[in-house]
Amino acid sequence: MDRAVFKIGFKNADKSSSWPGQTWKIHHLHVLRRFTQIAFILFIFLAPSLNILRYDSATRELIVFGSVWSLGINEIVNSNNLLGASQITLIIIFKGILPWLFVLSIFPLLGVFAGRFFCGWLCPEGAMFELADYLTLKLKGGRSIYSKNAKDPYLKSERKLFFSIITILCLFLIPFISGIALTGYFIAPETVWHQIMNLKFTFGVKAGIIGVSVYMFVTSIFVRHLFCRYVCAAGLMQMLFGWISPYSLRLKMDVSRISECTDCRRCEQACFMDILPRKNKKNISCVNCGACIVACDRELGKGRGLFHFRFGDKERIDNKENCKNLQPQLSPVCRANGTGREDSV
Ligand code: SF4
Ligand code: SF4
Repeated sequence: MDRAVFKIGFKNADKSSSWPGQTWKIHHLHVLRRFTQIAFILFIFLAPSLNILRYDSATRELIVFGSVWSLGINEIVNSNNLLGASQITLIIIFKGILPWLFVLSIFPLLGVFAGRFFCGWLCPEGAMFELADYLTLKLKGGRSIYSKNAKDPYLKSERKLFFSIITILCLFLIPFISGIALTGYFIAPETVWHQIMNLKFTFGVKAGIIGVSVYMFVTSIFVRHLFCRYVCAAGLMQMLFGWISPYSLRLKMDVSRISECTDCRRCEQACFMDILPRKNKKNISCVNCGACIVACDRELGKGRGLFHFRFGDKERIDNKENCKNLQPQLSPVCRANGTGREDSV
C-alpha cells in the first residue's frame, strides 16, 4: 500500500480510514483471544454454582470440585483412631501445605513460561477494561476519559445514541452481574439467588454485591489498564517472573525485515497497554495479547506482519545491514534495534 495513505490515515485526515476496523478482515488470533476471554469469564462466574470452588461461610466449609476440603482431623478424632505424629505430619503436608503452595505458585509459574499471557488472554477484568476502552473510543474518540492520546485509534462513531445506551447498560449490568456471581464464592449461590428473588438481603449478600459492583464500576471507568500495570498482584507476579525467566513467551519483532515497515503505527494504536511494540525492548507491561501482531498482519498481509510470539529470550542477529538505506522515519526504530540483538517486548 502507498505509504502516503498510511500517513493520512494516522493523522486522521481521513478519519474513517485511520482505524481500519471497518475494512479489515477478522483475524484468527483476535477471534481466539475473544473466545478464551469469554470462556474464562463464564468459568469464573459459574464455578461457585457448579461447586468447582467456593467457601460456604454458613457451614464454614471449603468446597473443591464438589467435595468438602478439609484436613480430616475432626473425623480422625471422632473415630477414636490413634495416629502417630508422623502420620499427622504427612496429612498436614499433603492436605494442608502442598495444595496451598500449588495455588500460590500458579501465577509465578505462568510468568516463568508464558509471561503475562493470563492478563491478555484470560483475565476477566482485563477483558472488561478492553470493553470500556472500546466504548470510550466509540463515544469520545480516545481510550481515556481524561485526555486524548495521540496514538489512540480513531473509532469514534456517528451512532452516539446507540453506543450511549450500550455503555449505560454495560456500566450497570456488568458490575451487578459480576457482584452476584462473585458473591457466590463466599455465600451459597442458591442463598444469593433466593434473596434476590425475594428482595430480602442479609448483610453479607448486600455487602458482597454492592462491594463488587462499586469496585468494578469505578475501576472500569477511572482506572482500567493502569490497574493492570501498577496494582494487580497476579499481574505483578507474572511480570516479575516473566521478566527474569529466560524461557518466557515474548513478543518479538523481526528486525531483519524492518525495511518492510510502512510506519503506519497501527501496532502502537492497537496496544492498550501503551507500549511501543516497535521499540522491540523487553517491556514488563506487555500482556502478550497479540493485538500488535494482528494490526501488523492486517497492514502487511496475513502472515507477513513483523511481530510474532516466541518462547525464550534473546537471539543475536546482525542488524547493521538492515539499517542502511531506510526511509528517514524508520531510522530511529532501526537504531533502537541496532545492537545486533533481536530483543523482545
Ligand atoms: S506490545 Fe503487542 S502483545 Fe504486548 S500488550 Fe501491546 S499489543 Fe499486546
Ligand atoms: S510494524 Fe507493522 S503495524 Fe507497526 S508501523 Fe510498521 S507496518 Fe505498521
